[in-house]
Amino acid sequence: MKAYFKVLLFFFLGVNLTFAQNKTENIFIITTDGFRWQEMFGGVDTTILRDDKFVRNRDRIKSNFGAVTREESRQKLMPFMWNTVAKEGQIYGNRWVGNKVNVLNPYWFSYPGYNEILSGYADDKINSNDKNYNENISVLEFLNNQPQFKGKVAAYTTWDAFPYIVNDKRSGITVNSAKDLAKGNLTEKEELLNEILQNYPTLASDRHDFITYYLAKEYIKKNKPKVFFLSFDETDEFAHEAKYDEYLFAANTADRFIGNLWSYCQSTPEYRGKTTFLILTDHGRGDKIKSQWTSHGQKVADCYQIWMAVIGPDTPALGEVKTEGQLFQNQVAKTVAKFLGYEFDNGKPVGDAIKSMKK
Ligand SMILES: [Zn+2]
Repeated sequence: MKAYFKVLLFFFLGVNLTFAQNKTENIFIITTDGFRWQEMFGGVDTTILRDDKFVRNRDRIKSNFGAVTREESRQKLMPFMWNTVAKEGQIYGNRWVGNKVNVLNPYWFSYPGYNEILSGYADDKINSNDKNYNENISVLEFLNNQPQFKGKVAAYTTWDAFPYIVNDKRSGITVNSAKDLAKGNLTEKEELLNEILQNYPTLASDRHDFITYYLAKEYIKKNKPKVFFLSFDETDEFAHEAKYDEYLFAANTADRFIGNLWSYCQSTPEYRGKTTFLILTDHGRGDKIKSQWTSHGQKVADCYQIWMAVIGPDTPALGEVKTEGQLFQNQVAKTVAKFLGYEFDNGKPVGDAIKSMKK
């Protein structure tokens, strides 16, 4: 009887703690396109580094990201990820220790991946990157339809397919992509960014990631969105161009931007202690064998392999998760809603929320 009572008491305490610790009021979903788990967990891939086809300035890579061990190299490549998220948050997808994150859609390229992330549904019908309005309701749209978040949901992206992926027409979400200028009452910085965007040639994707980032930051400072999707693209672009130097620097820059945004959030009353970042990629890439790291898609082995990271006030500090496990990309949408206290439903068989990410 006593034991039974103890169990009961423990159960009630547990329930109360669960409710008391739901601190997340804002959530940022951040992606960097086609960034491999191999570099996330291993830093510079020395086999690729040795190949003159892919590397123009080996010394520059070595002096910036070179190290004796994988752990040191990844820390130099992704300092925010390994100095902050690995201490205060969680990182999944190190297949060398048996921790796996997979894309569930069968295509392993961008639109199907972003649809899976945002709608929680690996949709077999989405089999191209064509600019078609997405029929699936994303978690961004779902949240924007809740009175609490109406008009407080926005997306800033380098790639120009996002207005279609999040169906800005139907969802009413603010989307700024590619050549879109900052609108409304412009800050001085936005005026400059607009000017750069119109006059500066892009080398790789639809616009440089730094334009996306600084436009996003101005928007965030001005409007204090509660649900924000931020998507970088240069990791993928430079990989397709077989430029390993630039691919690494693009990843390093994305990491710095994410760290910069995290610091901003911790310095701002609207965000401090009540904001969660969920960070991941849309697909993997091939391995160094047969030079397939530059590419991805069904014909390239292993591109379903991705990684995922999370940091925020409701997330236990597990750091790099080194236990055997399996997560899927289609679990992100429901997890995002759960952080904000909602049960995401869009009429499709969406993936379950990831239990370990939230206390
Ligand atoms: Zn992609």
